[in-house]
Amino acid sequence: MIAMIDRLTERAKHALYYAHMDVRQYGGRGEFFSIFLVTGLVKANPELMNRLGFNEQVIQKLRATLPPENPIDLSRAVDGGSGVFVAFGETTTKVFADAAKEADSTGERRITSGHLLLGLYSDSPEIRSEFETLGVTEEIVRKAVAEEPRERMQNPEYNALTRRHTAHPGIGYDLHRLEAGRRLMIGGVHVPFDKGPVGHSDGDVLAHAICDALLGAAGMGDIGKHFPDTDPKWKGANSLIFLEHLCKLFDDEGLQIIHIDAVVITERPKLGPHFPAMREALAKALGIEVDQINLKAKTNEGVDAIGRGEAIAAHVVATITG
Ligand code: MG
Repeated sequence: MIAMIDRLTERAKHALYYAHMDVRQYGGRGEFFSIFLVTGLVKANPELMNRLGFNEQVIQKLRATLPPENPIDLSRAVDGGSGVFVAFGETTTKVFADAAKEADSTGERRITSGHLLLGLYSDSPEIRSEFETLGVTEEIVRKAVAEEPRERMQNPEYNALTRRHTAHPGIGYDLHRLEAGRRLMIGGVHVPFDKGPVGHSDGDVLAHAICDALLGAAGMGDIGKHFPDTDPKWKGANSLIFLEHLCKLFDDEGLQIIHIDAVVITERPKLGPHFPAMREALAKALGIEVDQINLKAKTNEGVDAIGRGEAIAAHVVATITG
């Protein structure tokens, strides 16, 4: 039974929780009967239950007419979520087993509130007869359940909590054409060369790719969204200000940079000697330590536009948490 409860969607668990609240209010000796599951389902999935005609009135009627179930032995009881152990009635036990079978029949691990409802329909003659009084056939129930929006195993709050303790990678890429007479800025550092990038800002491929990698990891879109190249504000801008802006944004969102790994591809000039200065400039702009940034250089072996010295590109993977 515990293993089965582990398969319940968040909504199905809510139904169980509400049912358990009812057990405590009406259950006398604490037995968990199928009527409580009906009330739990109405509270956890009112859209589905109301669509099928199950409202408070019907529940009151069922509460008055449903015969008590034989409670099964306590060794098969489960924790209803509040630390209190409850004994499941015979019918209710079957309902849960059949809900699991419904899920199995479609190859699903999740047991949804709809599966519990189908279990109730097939195992409780009283509830089935109530459905029939309402003109709701098994076919109608199955159709309604099939049309239900997908239920999730975990609730969003739990996901947010998990996310806070997980590392997230993001990928960034940038390329700029190189033209004679322009200033070559890479990683916030001026690299003496006879060519430089064509771009709206200073055309710093490395800073731009880092920006995109960080935004990607944070799920915040891309550089164009935050610093549109149609905005005159960014014309000729030192790209380190983009990183400084991201640093503030990350602080506001409680996000932390774990590591940045980058490769800059250009045929010339040699970048290695400039890496210490680049790492320092980037680390300062991002408010992180120098050893959190790894830089690598590649040539394109004379092949394609980069190989012919017509362009410079950068690939970055950033890892963040929070
Ligand atoms: Mg760019």
